[in-house]
Amino acid sequence: MEPSACNLCGGRAQQFMARLHGRDLLRCGQCGLRWYHPTPTKAELKDLYAAQEYVAAEYFTLEDDLQTNHYQHMLQAADTAARRFPGGKVLEIGPGAGHFLQFCSSRGLQVEAIEFSQPLAQSIREKFGCVVREDPLEECGLPDGSFQVVAAFDLLEHVQDPAALLREIWRVLAPGGLLFLSTVSTDNLLDRVGALLHRLGLSAPLAKLHPPYHLYYFNKPTIKRSIEQADFAIEALVQENYDSRKATSSLPARLFLEAVYALHDMSGDKTNFYATCRKQTRD
Ligand SMILES: [Zn+2]
Repeated sequence: MEPSACNLCGGRAQQFMARLHGRDLLRCGQCGLRWYHPTPTKAELKDLYAAQEYVAAEYFTLEDDLQTNHYQHMLQAADTAARRFPGGKVLEIGPGAGHFLQFCSSRGLQVEAIEFSQPLAQSIREKFGCVVREDPLEECGLPDGSFQVVAAFDLLEHVQDPAALLREIWRVLAPGGLLFLSTVSTDNLLDRVGALLHRLGLSAPLAKLHPPYHLYYFNKPTIKRSIEQADFAIEALVQENYDSRKATSSLPARLFLEAVYALHDMSGDKTNFYATCRKQTRD
């Protein structure tokens, strides 16, 4: 295996965790960041997202259930954005069905989006009459300080270079601007159960926790370091459990998950991070 530098700390001391979905799941021995090696190319990513496995994932089944904690976080973020920057400009990267844009728009904020899926991009344009770009942020050539708010819900784990994305978000934000992000979290009981079963020869749970389209995995130290290394101050960093109804359609699996989640609630190490980050001005 050719060594690749850690996206977060640059270290080359990596530990092999598992071979899943035809790739090596690695863990940085220095900072703990986890990722798939080799990183899929743009063309491979396109195929992954077109694959039935992604389209059929339970992932999207509760897309419109506003009771999930995911949407409660989006609502809180929109409230904070509107209070802090009345009438300000918001860029959401990966808006999906557009719930957060809707929350922002109805609070008087101006919205724009970046959405790679052409049909989704078109539907957002029609719904909000706003600018929707279909290229990665790094290729959009947006001027410095263009937005008061950037939202990147469930995005960091999908991109080829999370550190570069955070630097670019910093650049397009105005001084003191806010970044709202969420991403999956490792180092919880569910993750340890998956790793244990994998060692015992049952790989399916670990493979499900590490789907092929999630390229990077963060724990509390690595998400904090990622945010702070890009010159953001962390205003809030909270953890939530992924909605069990979204995770699986099997009732026994859901009951098992709920039992694990009860233990997560006690330990505080859950399955997802929600962070509110403020752009710091560099000296
Ligand atoms: Zn590292």
